[in-house]
Amino acid sequence: MSIQKKFKISGMHCVSCAGIIEKSLKKIDGVSSAEVNYSTESLTISFDESKSNSNSFSPEIEKLGYTLIDVQKVESLEKLDTFRDEKISLLKKMKNEIFSAIPIAIFTFLVMAWEILMEYNLVPEMGETLEGFIHKIMPLLATYVLFVIGKPYLSGITRFLRYGKANMDTLIGIGTITAYVYSFIVTAFGKTLLPFLENAFTYYDVTIIVIIFIGLGKYLEARSKIKTGDAIEKLLGMQAKTALVIRNGKEIEVSISEVVLGDLIIIKPGNKIPVDGTITEGYSFLDESMITGEPMAVKKNVDDLVIAGTINTNGSFIFKATRIGSETLLSQIIKMVEDAQGSKAPIQALVDKISAVFVPIVLVVAFVSLFSWLIFGSASLGFSEALSLGIISFVSVLIIACPCALGLATPTAIIVGVGKGAKEGILIKDAATLEKLHKIDTLIIDKTGTLTIGKPTLVDIINTSKNSDETFLSILAGLETKSEHPISHAILDYVKEKSMLPRNVSEFMNIEGKGISGIIDGIEYFAGNTALINDLNIRFDKKSIEKYTEQGKTPVILATKNEVLGFVMVSDEIKPDSKSSIDQLHKMGIEVIMVTGDDEKAAHYIASLVGIKKVVAQALPADKLNVIKELQSKGSLVGMAGDGVNDAPALAQADVGIAMGTGTDVAIESSGITLLGGNLSKLVKAVNLSHITMRGIRQNLFWAFIYNVIGIPLAAGFFYPFFGLLLNPIFAGLAMALSSVSVVTNSLRIKTKKL
Ligand code: ADP
Ligand code: MG
Repeated sequence: MSIQKKFKISGMHCVSCAGIIEKSLKKIDGVSSAEVNYSTESLTISFDESKSNSNSFSPEIEKLGYTLIDVQKVESLEKLDTFRDEKISLLKKMKNEIFSAIPIAIFTFLVMAWEILMEYNLVPEMGETLEGFIHKIMPLLATYVLFVIGKPYLSGITRFLRYGKANMDTLIGIGTITAYVYSFIVTAFGKTLLPFLENAFTYYDVTIIVIIFIGLGKYLEARSKIKTGDAIEKLLGMQAKTALVIRNGKEIEVSISEVVLGDLIIIKPGNKIPVDGTITEGYSFLDESMITGEPMAVKKNVDDLVIAGTINTNGSFIFKATRIGSETLLSQIIKMVEDAQGSKAPIQALVDKISAVFVPIVLVVAFVSLFSWLIFGSASLGFSEALSLGIISFVSVLIIACPCALGLATPTAIIVGVGKGAKEGILIKDAATLEKLHKIDTLIIDKTGTLTIGKPTLVDIINTSKNSDETFLSILAGLETKSEHPISHAILDYVKEKSMLPRNVSEFMNIEGKGISGIIDGIEYFAGNTALINDLNIRFDKKSIEKYTEQGKTPVILATKNEVLGFVMVSDEIKPDSKSSIDQLHKMGIEVIMVTGDDEKAAHYIASLVGIKKVVAQALPADKLNVIKELQSKGSLVGMAGDGVNDAPALAQADVGIAMGTGTDVAIESSGITLLGGNLSKLVKAVNLSHITMRGIRQNLFWAFIYNVIGIPLAAGFFYPFFGLLLNPIFAGLAMALSSVSVVTNSLRIKTKKL
């Protein structure tokens, strides 16, 4: 049987590494797929357990110079934390190493500048002692930089020679060592070679500066990359470390991993909620902004749900732990954000294809340009000059053509976008969803709980039976005790307030999209909408409810098999931001259609209030599905926003399913996007986020491509015969370092954009 596992990978330097790892893992017998994400440094691998096991992956990867870390072995959240710590200490090491080499780069740079200016007689000659000193010290500095700081690039070459796998380190390694060896030959045997090489330049400065530039670029890139992922860090930071629990009548403080289900936990003013649970005693206002993005503190009474990571304000209360460890909403959110950040956007597929062939192609281009210089250049420039220019081209091509910027373009933007969403209470399942969201042209929305608050109240009672109002209501309430629909709460709340008792019901049934039924005191009763009464084939004057439904109220008709006993009207308030959000969605060119199981007239009334023109009312769950399918068959890209509970099939059918988390108790796995504390304004924000992220990706890809498209021919000396343009390897190094840094910086800008 095939199973899927996740690992972290350390030691990757560039996207091409990801490609190499994927390829070698796929070669292992039994491995059906391997996906490596360079930005999150994670591996998702599917393999047949009977043919191979996780132990066989590690050696395969280690011989390529990477390390595999099993995240499942330890509590995943803690492991994430340590992985992060490791990355931060690695970053420090990188910083120390590269910063200690910067004086060498500056010295080299000054020497270079002096030599150039000298040629134009802008500065005095160096003087013989100084020049002699410099000629001796440069090879020493270059040796240090290449063999100490440039070690990863040299092992890139060894790996290439041993396994035939080249990555960007290989390119830089070959480039810099070529410059070094050529210069070394000139220094050591310059006099002997004089007849062949009258212009014997050395390129120690190239080796030194390129390695230091690229190291600096990599350091800056790694530093920003950690920043792109700091949403996870913030989420992890929301987790309380300890909880004050009542055990054997005593209050004791335990670490949160020791909290068990059913523990009673004491919360004092200012405390962080350690796990999820329901209040058993006391009340307070809770700041849930870290989860929902909503700034207002929320009042929580007995029986209300409290969420780990949120913060108590002034009150004190006791609550019972109902979800602990990886079950808490916060843990689920962290896992979802982690997964989403590690997932690949479809737009990435092309980039992956290019990066995979990039390195070998660049090697070929580099050699072709070297030989072209030697063959065609020698005729007009002489061998010595041609060799010198050929070497420059060879080195420049290898240095400039790093697919790094290309590889960082998409994932860094996705990481920042997904993280930004999480901060606003917009949970995105994967990169593909984030990419699709900005393309939707039609949005189906559910009425109850999406456009309206979802907490209807009972507003009218029209009892046409011979029974008293009290009997009528207690029968209706009896049926509703078994229902989960918001309507049932409206009726039960009303009855409770009037101190009436619901009757006992047996053989309760849900009649999908229409209502409910059950037996009370031996008689079968039905409660629901007009469609239900139609099905019963009993006499009912529809006109009698119209005057209510025209005001947007929803009828609940109570009937036996033979006659209608009367009806009540429930009414649900429209969420304050519904209308403005619908307006904005329309402005974005998205057609909004309301699909609801509610009464036709009531649905049209609510729709008119929020500015929706298309309404499908009295829709059964299957109808909702069909509406979506039909739109899709006409080529529309359909989003569906619903409450995620009884809309699950429609959410799954839509191109993008958007679950509106009413309150904070939501199943976040069920749809592509979950809006916590779900208002439609958050949906508008989510669409904006998708636009902003995709724009960032397109900018990144554009610049990364342009950079290579111009850079490679320039470096190869393609423009030299026409314009005398040739790229100095030092500028190639600078450009390559800048391109990666600028891509990551551009992705980070997504963070500051207003949604
Ligand atoms: P929606 O979520 O759009 O209301 P549903 O499929 O959940 O769609 O319900 C469809 C309709 O069935 C409701 O609008 C209501 O008229 C009727 N209905 C469902 N459940 C109940 C209930 N518990 N009591 C009375 N009517 C109900
Ligand atoms: Mg519903």
